[in-house]
Amino acid sequence: MFDNLSDKLDKALHVLKGHGSITEVNVAETLKEVRRALLDADVNFKIAKEFTTKVKEKALGQNVLTALQPGQLMVKLVKDELTELMGGDAAGINLQGTPSIILMSGLQGSGKTTFSGKLANFLKTKKSKKPLLVACDVYRPAAINQLHVVGDQIGVEVYSEPENKNPVSIAQNAIAHAKSNGHNVVIIDTAGRLAVDEAMMAEIENVHKAIQPQETLFVVDSMTGQDAVNTAKAFNDRLNFDGVVLTKLDGDTRGGAAISIKSVVNKPIKFIGTGEKMDAIDVFYPSRMAERILGMGDVVSLVERAQEQFDEEEARKIQKKIAKNQFGFDDFLKQIQQVKKMGSMKDLVGMIPGAGKALKDVDIDDDAFKGIEAIIHSMTPIERSVPATIDASRKKRIAKGSGTSVQQVNQLMKQFDQMSKMMKMMQGGGGRKMMQMMGK
Ligand code: GDP
Repeated sequence: MFDNLSDKLDKALHVLKGHGSITEVNVAETLKEVRRALLDADVNFKIAKEFTTKVKEKALGQNVLTALQPGQLMVKLVKDELTELMGGDAAGINLQGTPSIILMSGLQGSGKTTFSGKLANFLKTKKSKKPLLVACDVYRPAAINQLHVVGDQIGVEVYSEPENKNPVSIAQNAIAHAKSNGHNVVIIDTAGRLAVDEAMMAEIENVHKAIQPQETLFVVDSMTGQDAVNTAKAFNDRLNFDGVVLTKLDGDTRGGAAISIKSVVNKPIKFIGTGEKMDAIDVFYPSRMAERILGMGDVVSLVERAQEQFDEEEARKIQKKIAKNQFGFDDFLKQIQQVKKMGSMKDLVGMIPGAGKALKDVDIDDDAFKGIEAIIHSMTPIERSVPATIDASRKKRIAKGSGTSVQQVNQLMKQFDQMSKMMKMMQGGGGRKMMQMMGK
């Protein structure tokens, strides 16, 4: 995410981060580079200028030049300012009202339908809600079908009236349907156009007025940079929406939209979309995003994701197995599956402080586990639970069955062996023994 911007900001702040001497001249020089980095990321010119002016004022006010760690202080000032620019505190979604009504707005292709599904899935699985998805695009039958496909995927009911050409009445009927069927959230997906036009604006404005949603979200493709900001302004002028959803942040986005949008429309970014799958949705936290942009990682999100996937019961079972020397390939497979549920590898690595930058040119393959999984799937139950039974001829069979080589099977067995030993050691004599081994 925002690799280019992170890289440039890192270079700009590099001199000050080290222990080199800090002068008014190189502070000014650094801020000039910071501004250039922001402009390159497609941040609005005025915003970039204000940004560096503010950081400079704060730096002088806090005597950066005489501070104990002036470089660190500068990084902190830049981080704080970025956080402020992106909205300060995280803004929640308003779920009051029975049902609470959420209206989606945005251009065609921005990711509205995909996001409607993601949000329904998020509210269902994380907030125990019973959402209803509503297809209000009366122009494109394909859009209605798309929402039904999404609804099927996540097990959420979709309301549509293919024959009805009046979006206001569809929305009203859907709300009545939700009330009589116990849905406590209604998510209304509307028609978009390729560009802002009067007919579309008038239509969504009508729907908005008629149903008075608790939450109107504006969905925008972050890849469109400054255009995203302009479109946001046009929609906000008409709808006075409550929050922004930035999609496609998993792509090669430069970051301008994320950084500028809040200060242009004065509405918070509430969610981000980071992929095409239904679970690729994140609540937007300005400070965490600022840390990621500055290559500080996002340990908080990483730990949260790990906790979400962490199954205590399962962990206890595994501990017992390790103690009894019964940890087998099946358990290993389960652990791999848990890690995979946490998200894409590239995304996870980006959350580790420093690692995102260090590994930015390494091609992190999400299929990295595929070979391992294929090998394990080709083992018999006995082989999985008692790896010692795997002799040379079995290895050959496993390699053939999994489309890998004997060498790869050997490698996995060796890694598995090392890992089992290490886990046993951590559990037995505690981490102390391992530390001794590592010479600490
Ligand atoms: P709509 O016309 O606004 O309803 O947009 P869609 O939901 O149909 O999305 C348009 C395209 O963008 C589809 O191919 C989606 O799969 C894709 N898309 C949506 N959100 C994301 C995202 O966060 N990341 C990526 N990579 N693709 C997305």
